[in-house]
Amino acid sequence: MSRTIYLDYNATAPVRPEAIDAVTAAMKQTGNPSSIHAYGRAARRLVEDARAEVASLMGTRPARIVFTSGGTEANNLAIRGAERSRVLISAIEHDSVLQAHADAIRIPVDQQGRIDLNALEELLTIDPENTLVSVMMANNETGVLQPVKEIVFLAHAKGALVHCDAVQAAGKTAINCEELGIDFTTISSHKMGGPQGVGALILGKGLEIKSQQLGGGQERRRRGGTENVPGIAGFGVAAKLSLEGLAEIQEKAYLRNEMEQKMLAAAPGARVFGVEVDRVPNTTTITMPGVPSDTQLMVLDLEGYAVSSGSACSSGKVQTSHVLQAMGADEKTAGEAIRISTGWASADTDLDQFADAWIALFKRKGEHPR
Ligand code: PLP
Repeated sequence: MSRTIYLDYNATAPVRPEAIDAVTAAMKQTGNPSSIHAYGRAARRLVEDARAEVASLMGTRPARIVFTSGGTEANNLAIRGAERSRVLISAIEHDSVLQAHADAIRIPVDQQGRIDLNALEELLTIDPENTLVSVMMANNETGVLQPVKEIVFLAHAKGALVHCDAVQAAGKTAINCEELGIDFTTISSHKMGGPQGVGALILGKGLEIKSQQLGGGQERRRRGGTENVPGIAGFGVAAKLSLEGLAEIQEKAYLRNEMEQKMLAAAPGARVFGVEVDRVPNTTTITMPGVPSDTQLMVLDLEGYAVSSGSACSSGKVQTSHVLQAMGADEKTAGEAIRISTGWASADTDLDQFADAWIALFKRKGEHPR
């Protein structure tokens, strides 16, 4: 096969050429954005232009955006910097939320991956004014969207604050942080075609956060350290293009849905996680009964498809996905799941072609080592 079809946008998206140009131009420009002279002011302009673009994408004001080194740092900053002693997190959060607070209490999800609002309400009866609720907007493995507006309503009614990891939602679904009333929102540049290593935490109206970096007073004393000017410049361009491309990404959901239907029809017993509820338009996690995910990944990679597995592999040990387990999947089923995710540079034919390769693999499954 002449080219590999990249279907792993939820891990990282290809960088948009316009973002590469912006990063390159910013790197050629000397200047610390905190300096008063003309060089400094030029660098500051790049940062503030990007801040305005990110604010437009997220339905907020530029002054409420804190640039960070990525989604992981923004999640840590929110959970630690909100300074609430009781933290409620959904069972399907990204590790950067799960590990940011050692004693966080888990909110269960149903079989479709939506959080149990009754359980949340119950948990909010204890010490709500010292509580932070952290629920992601879209899950990185399944794409399932959470009822963020209802979560904010329930939490605010009791005096709790809400953090929302919107890393996998931004650029895939329309977001208006102000209307949703979210107190802290996390986003990451590299999931929307910007460079890696840059992201942001968005503060709600009138809210502050305790900086977790001691040192400089950058980002209005919310995050010390000289800003990553080239990264932020690229992020700004990616945010602008993501907003412009939002309608198209959503229209293309039918390609994902057709692929899923074709695969489910060809592989009896296959499961698409979260198929019955709202999801972002670009994500599928599907099981291939009887074929472990690492076998699928290896064969599909050889055939020219870059997808990822529902199980994370760290230090040589394959871990079963906590997300799929929280949705009721047993270890064997979760271990047969792969994730397919598309984005701005995907061709309309990619998913149909992928479905054919996946179905062909299923049909000859007995030939692969388990
Ligand atoms: N949150 C979610 C839901 C993610 O999918 C990721 C990245 O995989 C992160 C946070 C971390 O973002 P970053 O890679 O920018 O640190």
